[in-house]
Amino acid sequence: MLTVGITGGIGSGKTTVCKIFATMGVPVYYADDAAKWLMENDQHLVAQIKEAFGSDAYLPDGRLNRQLLANVVFNNAGSLRRLESMVHPAVQAHAEQWIQQQTAPYILKEAALLFESGSYKQLHKIIVVYAPREVRLQRVQQRDNTTAEAVIARMNKQMPDEEKVKMADFIVYNNGAELLIPQVMRIHQQLLQLAKEMMGVNI
Ligand code: ATP
Repeated sequence: MLTVGITGGIGSGKTTVCKIFATMGVPVYYADDAAKWLMENDQHLVAQIKEAFGSDAYLPDGRLNRQLLANVVFNNAGSLRRLESMVHPAVQAHAEQWIQQQTAPYILKEAALLFESGSYKQLHKIIVVYAPREVRLQRVQQRDNTTAEAVIARMNKQMPDEEKVKMADFIVYNNGAELLIPQVMRIHQQLLQLAKEMMGVNI
């Protein structure tokens, strides 16, 4: 099956674009949501996290102590890498299982850190959603009711969008000036074509 990654900087509009693909019948795997779910529901992963970060990494009701974990990893690159080295394989395995259950011509895998994590290498094509930094800053502040400083701190942890665009097979411009739906429809047609070619079907 044709597998397509979709990524972009914080607030670029990945989720918004994925929702448009989904209305066209494309199954979407949200890797960041899956990671959050697996960190509370995959018993092997839960055990690994407790071993690495202590049982305080979880609240008494079993939910992840996000505040504590965020404090530990945000300013400590070693701890962050350690956490990622546990979560990433769990998500990868979960995504592969999910992909095998899909019957559509192609699927999308949405992840904020597709390039940074290296998981783009396992996907056939990559879509990058691009919006200028200023636009993203405003949208995220409004969506999350947060400060510019907090958003900038998260942005600075990510690869610059200009770098991501260079590695893209398809780019969706979400700067407010270009309509999203026609862009998505064009890419969808091209991906359907590619999926047919991959399956060896004559058109
Ligand atoms: P994150 O990296 O934080 O998961 P994201 O890339 O998935 O973000 P979205 O959540 O899709 O981005 O979009 C960020 C915010 O900007 C949302 O509130 C969304 O409704 C808004 N938004 C996205 N695209 C547009 C647009 N073209 N016009 C106006 N608002 C938009």
